[in-house]
Amino acid sequence: MLVTVGAVFGGARGSAAEWGHTTLRVRGRQCRCGALGCLEAYAGAEALVQRWQEAGATLPADTDEETAVTALLAAAHPEEGPADPVALSVLDETAEYLGAGISDLINLYSPERVLLCGWAGLQLAPYILDDVRRHAKAYALRHPAERVTIELGRLGPDAVTVGAATLPLADFFAAAAAFTSRRRKETPPSNRRGGGPRWRRAS
Ligand SMILES: [Zn+2]
Repeated sequence: MLVTVGAVFGGARGSAAEWGHTTLRVRGRQCRCGALGCLEAYAGAEALVQRWQEAGATLPADTDEETAVTALLAAAHPEEGPADPVALSVLDETAEYLGAGISDLINLYSPERVLLCGWAGLQLAPYILDDVRRHAKAYALRHPAERVTIELGRLGPDAVTVGAATLPLADFFAAAAAFTSRRRKETPPSNRRGGGPRWRRAS
């Protein structure tokens, strides 16, 4: 199971799920998908930077997300001098949000491995991966939590592209399943939703 902030590839049926848009908090933060309280509205890179700014950080207006995340990490874990407690607490919260989100995946799919990928995952993992593991296991049911490992994906920043490459295969298997179902039941399969993969919107 390959996890990026925003999408999951390789679910139980080989299809892309919208993990980032599962609800983390009712009546929560506005997500860019239009709903309230999505995981992405808390743990996504954009949300991470926004939460830091809401907590008092000031960044130049034209700072891009990657630079802002780098600045947050530098403030929370400076090479010398004391850590910025605000940045540290934003980072701690993020680890808990991600862990809680991953616990949903663990309970739903009982995966053997969850790999954190994507540029934000790669950047954050050295600082938060242990906490993400701890929270994921604490929030998940004990049995599936005991068998899962949560690691950093080794595919590099292109993991999303690699994940996307599995989607045509997922479509193929979905089509094959629909064909089998049609033969067995002699009733029309429920067609896949049209309009292309919904995950594209989130990229
Ligand atoms: Zn959303």
